[in-house]
Amino acid sequence: MGAHIDLHMHTRHSDGTSTVADVIDMVRRRNLEAFAITDHDTLAGYFEASEMLDGQGPRLLCGVELSVDMGEGGHRDIHILAYEVDPRHEGLRSALESFREQRNRRGRSMVEKLSDLGIDITYEQVQRLAGFAAVSRPHVAEAIVEAGHAATTNEAFQRWIGLGGPAYVPKRKFSPQEAIDLIHQAGGAAVLAHPMIDNAIDHLQTLVAQGLDGIEVFHSAQKRSDTDRLLHLAEQYRLIVTGGSDFHSTDGRYGLIGSQKVPVRLLEQLDKRVNQIRGQQ
Ligand SMILES: [Zn+2]
Ligand SMILES: [Zn+2]
Repeated sequence: MGAHIDLHMHTRHSDGTSTVADVIDMVRRRNLEAFAITDHDTLAGYFEASEMLDGQGPRLLCGVELSVDMGEGGHRDIHILAYEVDPRHEGLRSALESFREQRNRRGRSMVEKLSDLGIDITYEQVQRLAGFAAVSRPHVAEAIVEAGHAATTNEAFQRWIGLGGPAYVPKRKFSPQEAIDLIHQAGGAAVLAHPMIDNAIDHLQTLVAQGLDGIEVFHSAQKRSDTDRLLHLAEQYRLIVTGGSDFHSTDGRYGLIGSQKVPVRLLEQLDKRVNQIRGQQ
């Protein structure tokens, strides 16, 4: 058996459906030794969890998942996980804050474009659908469905707000070098999330040259047969290995918390790497 950890999960602060309290409850029921809440572009879930735990176990690592633009016309996105960053680091906080503002502005300009196209939705409606989270395209899609202009959110993406659609608004993202540098400046480690999704693995060499620290070997959407290949690449490039469920909701669309059985010994490598990074600052 041995003890396990889960270093990748989302809450209502981004696109998850569970509260932070529910997530902590699941982590405790699974007897996990450590966990990281890795919401997209925000540390809000981390702060809430750290207050709730109030120094009690299990160990909570400060984490966040950043979207990175690999160029090629903005069609290709990869995700970089930041671990053990200083949650009070000014540069990191202001970058996350500006992304949040930018997302809200983007939401507004999509709503404007849609209204010019005769689709009557309001920004308030979109905000209500977003709840705690920063406004993002799935919320705009839900509003389009509510207004009766698409049967499903998929259709809303296809007809209106997907890439190349009449109400599409591009989003500014980090370049990989910006993201990795910022994570290091904030004293944390940069890990390539779910490398087998969207062929993110194709960028591995580039990212390693830019200072990438690790890869997420264990992930709900990756097959066990991918594990050997990824472990081999980690060894070849001297990368640390991490893993997590990428939990979003309890309906099983993504993995459940603890489902990846990530061994706790991986934490040692991560802590060691973080100490090296801080020593180089
Ligand atoms: Zn991701
Ligand atoms: Zn994720």
